[in-house]
Amino acid sequence: MAKIEDFNFNGKKAIVRVDFNVPLDENGNITDDTRIRGALPTLKKILDDGGALILMSHMGKPKGKVNPKLSLSQIREAVAKALGRDVKFAPDCMGAQEAAKDLKPGEVLLLENLRFYPEEEGKPVGIDKNDPAYEAAKKEMKERQKEFAKTLASYADVYVNDAFGTAHRRHASTAVIADYFDQQDKMLGFLMEKEVKAVDNILKDIKRPFTAIMGGSKVSTKIGIIENLMDKVDNLILCGGMTYTFAKAMGGNVGNSICESDKLDLALDIMKKAKEKGVNLVLGTDCVAADAFSNDANTQICSVLNIPEGWEGLDAGPESIKAFREVIVPAKTILWNGPAGVFEFDNFTTGSKAIAEAIVEATKDGAFSLVGGGDSVACVNKFGLADSVSYVSTGGGALLEAIEGKTLPGVAAIEGK
Ligand code: AMP
Repeated sequence: MAKIEDFNFNGKKAIVRVDFNVPLDENGNITDDTRIRGALPTLKKILDDGGALILMSHMGKPKGKVNPKLSLSQIREAVAKALGRDVKFAPDCMGAQEAAKDLKPGEVLLLENLRFYPEEEGKPVGIDKNDPAYEAAKKEMKERQKEFAKTLASYADVYVNDAFGTAHRRHASTAVIADYFDQQDKMLGFLMEKEVKAVDNILKDIKRPFTAIMGGSKVSTKIGIIENLMDKVDNLILCGGMTYTFAKAMGGNVGNSICESDKLDLALDIMKKAKEKGVNLVLGTDCVAADAFSNDANTQICSVLNIPEGWEGLDAGPESIKAFREVIVPAKTILWNGPAGVFEFDNFTTGSKAIAEAIVEATKDGAFSLVGGGDSVACVNKFGLADSVSYVSTGGGALLEAIEGKTLPGVAAIEGK
């Protein structure tokens, strides 16, 4: 595997998988350009070396069909501005042979949304999984995916994957394409390298105590990572909406709070496993309950085990926050995924903000802190604390899968594993 820092792109055409799946408003304006900025070190290195750039990405979920609302032409100007040079646009990612051939050193070509073709994701369309013909359709699609990846590969001399956000998918542009490049002509971009190293820090180079904070809405979507972390952490804070599934499992009344009633056994099992493994499980004990799911709702502080009928827990209470701080501030390794409350409502940000501030305190004191997963990133950004933690990951699903210990197909394809 080649290393981007050692590679000389002079005179080479590099096809780079970036994650330009940026949020747009209804007029097609970019509302957050973090992902474009994240790719710049890789893109600038290639251009500064004297290489030419072919950029490919997905945007949204067009499900294999052309959808002008998800056209990457909408971000062309923003990319040009970020790179400080003109960006050419190929309106069909499968029809860019001429444009790629004509590309000169220092020039940039942006391909249209890869997911306008079903081959990118490689899943058969318009056929149900239970249909007897599904397996044959899947096989056929895998062959078409190879051809699709081969065409993309034919545009360039070198392949760089810098899209950590999609590294957990075995798509044409994130993994299959790597088969069409020699080992010395494919590599991870700088952003990918940084992400992989941050995960390594959490999984391999653990300084103790290690505190993981898992929040968000549901326990069911986080169970894989919770189970994996149980073997590694000293303290595990479970907060946010999943608090109420635990409270109900313990026999509490949770009123209208978000609660997965079919996951009560799972919650009890997690509590049992934590005890067996000697993990200090910290669950919220009190909450800010609201009489409606609204920023302007009336509120009261109550025990998570005793929430009045018609009320719902929307944020962590003061006693819980104190308990969270006690295991975050002295920690030396910290992972945070998922908010402690409905932080999108300004009146219910206290718990998440207190967690972010405790992480910043610990980081100042020498801890390695990794914050990842869309909503926790939005949280630290909202509180202006993104620069005060060790690392903010751009990956949601990819980060969680990596921390679960799974090998990411996007990384494996480059490393030849
Ligand atoms: P996730 O995608 O699972 O990380 O969940 C993030 C979402 O969980 C955010 O949109 C929060 O508003 C939501 N959330 C956190 N705490 C609560 C709660 N107590 N009740 C309802 N939703 C919550």
